[in-house]
Amino acid sequence: MPPALSAINITILGSASAQPSSTRNHSSLALRLNGDVWLFDCGEATQHRVQKSSVKMGKIQKIFITHTHGDHIFGLLPLLASRLDGTGGMVESSEDPRTNTDAQGAIPPLEIYGPLGTRAYVRNGLAYTYTNLGAPYVVHELRFPADPPSGDYTELPLHHSELPTGRNISQIDGVWPHIFKDELVSVSAAPILHSVPCVGYVVSELPVPGKINPKDYIPHLKRTGAPMSVMRQLQQGESVELPDGTVLHGPPRRPGRKLAILGDTYDPSPIARLAEDADLLIHEATNAHLPGVDPSTKPEDTFESVEARTKSRGHSTPQMAGLFAKRIRAKKLLLNHFSARYAGNDDVDEEARKIMEAIKALAVSEYGGEVICARDFMSFDIEMQR
Ligand SMILES: [Zn+2]
Ligand SMILES: [Zn+2]
Repeated sequence: MPPALSAINITILGSASAQPSSTRNHSSLALRLNGDVWLFDCGEATQHRVQKSSVKMGKIQKIFITHTHGDHIFGLLPLLASRLDGTGGMVESSEDPRTNTDAQGAIPPLEIYGPLGTRAYVRNGLAYTYTNLGAPYVVHELRFPADPPSGDYTELPLHHSELPTGRNISQIDGVWPHIFKDELVSVSAAPILHSVPCVGYVVSELPVPGKINPKDYIPHLKRTGAPMSVMRQLQQGESVELPDGTVLHGPPRRPGRKLAILGDTYDPSPIARLAEDADLLIHEATNAHLPGVDPSTKPEDTFESVEARTKSRGHSTPQMAGLFAKRIRAKKLLLNHFSARYAGNDDVDEEARKIMEAIKALAVSEYGGEVICARDFMSFDIEMQR
């Protein structure tokens, strides 16, 4: 019987775009699946955000990078150094036990996924800063058709803590299906359009047990003297033959929860099919036209001119995010990656609250469903809806 995934929790560690502010840090979010933590993007100072949140640094097992723009990856090396017990080495003649990699053999590696360049960034960054790590890591790269099929942009040999088992994952029919899968969840990825190669990730909980009505089964168990423990098998969707030959069928399994976590984009169409019916879509909304609400609105601007400018930089407006949420029939939309103009203290500041309400309303106008604007340290569970 596979163990069940009880809680899926999202904690926003950073919701800013290009520049951070006193109220928003660079992009990162933590996904908690039972006890494990997976990070999606790791902008500058993410480890400080982790320390100030209820997310446990030591529980981080995987890090998924959407693209190698600095506001999504500059925090990766310092976070790795802390997570993997790094140091700057020892003086000559003293041996750093961390470089004895035999001792690391039994530790499962921290897994990093990202586009081409992620592996070179990590390896070169660790090498040039003389960072020794006390535990292993591995980098899997999602290769676009235009990328070289092998090689990873670095001439440096493997870092002593880098496992040589990092995969270069090619697309199949335009997406990267099941880049990770265990008995509870699978992760797939697909390209999304931005100014540089960028991906979105879809995390899918595997089908979960159906709703069982004991009244349909218990009379049969009592009649035939079958043990009540049979209920556990039925709950898992199995069929059970009773002592008198009657066969009971458990309720069919139901689809599990699905999250679509996108990076920066002006058009995420290539991930639409994978992301369909997501319980939560996380989509950027970098810029918005907010006349009468945002005092820095330029008089000559219109919804059209702001959208054109936003798209030209590879980004989206709240309306574009709302349209995509509607297209994939997402059950909930979380907007993130806001311009530094939109302060993230909308829980305590009236002007910020008005601006975030207006941004939300623009997304709702195209989507119709529930929209949440990300705020740093916001944390919520994804409930089972079906
Ligand atoms: Zn960005
Ligand atoms: Zn970007």
